[in-house]
Amino acid sequence: MALTQCPECNKRISDKADQCPYCQCALVDDPEKLETQRRINRIKKSSSLMTHSFLALILFISGLAYSSWYAEDGMTYDKIASQAVALIGLIWYLTTRIRIMLFKRNKKQ
Ligand SMILES: [Zn+2]
Repeated sequence: MALTQCPECNKRISDKADQCPYCQCALVDDPEKLETQRRINRIKKSSSLMTHSFLALILFISGLAYSSWYAEDGMTYDKIASQAVALIGLIWYLTTRIRIMLFKRNKKQ
């Protein structure tokens, strides 16, 4: 196993590593490997965005459900808090949808 220098942080690392263990930068020169790495990163990013949008939707729905079914009528603390949660969920969801849209558009280029 030969040692090489990381182009980013200049630490000595194995030349067999695909990624620097110190700064996590990719160390693949092989274009085919680089493409695979990029594809893996894209899948990871896309699944993380999906998880975010799912969690945001749950937050929105549960805040809304609580506010309409369980909270007392009027401007109670319960009601305001659950509506705030629903609003945060909605904003988070919309932001994530926009990020997913931009992410998908990026792919076509
Ligand atoms: Zn490094």
